[in-house]
Amino acid sequence: PAEPGRPYRVVLLGASGVGKTAFASIFGGAADSMDSDDCELCEDETCEKTIEVDGEPATVTLLDTWDAETDGEWAQECYMQTGDAYLLLYSITDRASFLRASELRITLRRFRPAQHTPIILVGNKCDLVRRREVSVTEGRACAAVFDCKFIETSAAMQHNVWEAFHGIVRQLRLRRDSK
Ligand code: GDP
Repeated sequence: PAEPGRPYRVVLLGASGVGKTAFASIFGGAADSMDSDDCELCEDETCEKTIEVDGEPATVTLLDTWDAETDGEWAQECYMQTGDAYLLLYSITDRASFLRASELRITLRRFRPAQHTPIILVGNKCDLVRRREVSVTEGRACAAVFDCKFIETSAAMQHNVWEAFHGIVRQLRLRRDSK
């Protein structure tokens, strides 16, 4: 049975180089899909597909256009307004990207005041153990302050990436069910 309503729009945010493209290609191309083919709509850096989460299908449109450094204010505002949920990525090997994630969280709050928009703070590249600049404790503390969930991932090892996508769908469902 299909879920009611339009697909969930999930936006990837984060400094450049943190792994947004890697996340999008795992989402777009992976074996977790219920479709037999890979994602067919991977144009314009958006990708729509139906995945199974907790035994129920969920259709997700993933948006990966926004590069915080190169796109301007317009794109920023557009993405801050159109997403149903956000994966806020940083790289555990890059403290500047962690600070950037905090800034993005604050901007997001400005655009989505008083809305319980699901957000997961994602510390990517956790395979690069020896280059770690941001500890798990710091990541978790930051997520607590910002009132969002937290997960560490490795797109390179395909570790926890689907957990992040499934986590965001679970939060979207909780929000939908509480309405
Ligand atoms: P974007 O700018 O946020 O889209 O970042 P990309 O997805 O293009 O990734 C930037 C670089 O980091 C690329 O060379 C990726 O191969 C690499 N990368 C992305 N995720 C990981 C990861 O989890 N571990 C490692 N070791 N490298 C990664």
